[in-house]
Amino acid sequence: MKESITALRALQRQLYAFRYAEALISYDEAAVAPPESEAGRAVAAEEFARLRYALLTGADTAALLERAARDAEDEQQAAEVRELKREAGRIRNIPPGEYAAFSGLVAQAMPAWGRARKDSDFAAFAPYLEKIVAAVRRQAACIDPARDPYDVLLDQYEPGLTAARCDAFFAAVRGAVVPLLAEVQKRGAPVRTDFLENDWPLDKQRALSRRLMALWGLDPAHTLLGESEHPFTDSLYSGDVRLTTRYLPRDFTSSLYSVLHEGGHALYDSHVDAALDYTALQGGASMGIHESQSRLFENCVGRSRAFVECLWPTLCELFPAQLAGVTAEELYRAVNRAVPGPIRTKADELTYPLHIMVRYELEKALVHGELAVRDLPAAWNERYREYLGITPKNDAEGVLQDIHWAGGDIGYFPSYALGSAYAAQAMDDIRQALDVDACAARGDLAPLREELTKRLWRYGCLKETDWLVESLCGGPFDPAHYTAYLTRKYTALYAL
Ligand SMILES: [Zn+2]
Repeated sequence: MKESITALRALQRQLYAFRYAEALISYDEAAVAPPESEAGRAVAAEEFARLRYALLTGADTAALLERAARDAEDEQQAAEVRELKREAGRIRNIPPGEYAAFSGLVAQAMPAWGRARKDSDFAAFAPYLEKIVAAVRRQAACIDPARDPYDVLLDQYEPGLTAARCDAFFAAVRGAVVPLLAEVQKRGAPVRTDFLENDWPLDKQRALSRRLMALWGLDPAHTLLGESEHPFTDSLYSGDVRLTTRYLPRDFTSSLYSVLHEGGHALYDSHVDAALDYTALQGGASMGIHESQSRLFENCVGRSRAFVECLWPTLCELFPAQLAGVTAEELYRAVNRAVPGPIRTKADELTYPLHIMVRYELEKALVHGELAVRDLPAAWNERYREYLGITPKNDAEGVLQDIHWAGGDIGYFPSYALGSAYAAQAMDDIRQALDVDACAARGDLAPLREELTKRLWRYGCLKETDWLVESLCGGPFDPAHYTAYLTRKYTALYAL
């Protein structure tokens, strides 16, 4: 191996060590750390950011990347250079003090948001959000002063995504979902949900999670299921993937679908080719692609009739009293009922993209300076009335419900809706050769995992985003698959 490639690998191992520490810090923050420990964490986060910045943007690294670009002998080496150049290019023009301070700012903002949400007190969080919006606008201007700042932010989460592409996508979604939802509400077909309101013992819910992990094929030697207020997945490398869920004593479907969702993320991360570990190519590709895998397992498989029927005997064994007199079909309809509500994470598949559309429009307006942070709650409520026909009863169930903006993630939300659309298109293509419902009915998802490994999982970040989307979906991205999927599903469910 050439000297430059050996040095490139050594650099990536150091960056990996930083990522490892930062991922552990964030897992610890969400699942382990005591509630008022953010001061120390903010200092550590800021110092790690400073070290990583220096390592990535130093003159030595720039020279090394040029040498390695010339010396790269295979696709992986070339892709490693490409990804490192992209990462360094993104932050190089941000002043180092500003870059590090941003990590410290979000480490303080997240617990402040948690307290503000508990008290439903937007004013307590607003000063943090004002600083965050100002900071991401400055960063976008540093990264590429010639481009629209919101496009620069979108690109960080989904390379190549622009507001123009988002506008076209959301117009297609809105055009299909809004009339469909109106029909569903007009029909008002009675879906039985009385049995969901019950006591679901936590030890039985935890036992269910273990069964679900096994059904998804997650290896307990390499995956850990923890508990946190907001379920998430964090992978250290392909051999250590952490996911979390949240148990509600009065609603077992909340944790059920969190585990299925986070399990999809975890499957993706743990099936990336181990040869990419400790390099810039490890882990999943874009946020939209990552979300496509969680949505595919949560919704396309997990909310299918075939899977609910497969799970039914297990559920009856764990919850015999709660499910007495209930049928699998009734559960299937209950977990697929479409009802507009204020909370995104509780939304059904049909109303979900409308929640994302609200966030997309508002964060774009914030970044463009067309909306002030202090006017955000009113703008939020107005859009919920317009798109979903409801008014949040306070800011806790309105503008304060999501952690993303507190975490500095502005430009992230559109990838959630895109993920659902990638998943629907991928399933259309996969179903041509594989009877996914038959697999789900048997509780044997190995053939689906093999197919997704072949199309997507093994590549990590080796390939570019557009290439991966096409490989996953079996053709160029087309949101018509997603709108057709929703129309098919809800037309049948509600006999429209
Ligand atoms: Zn997710």
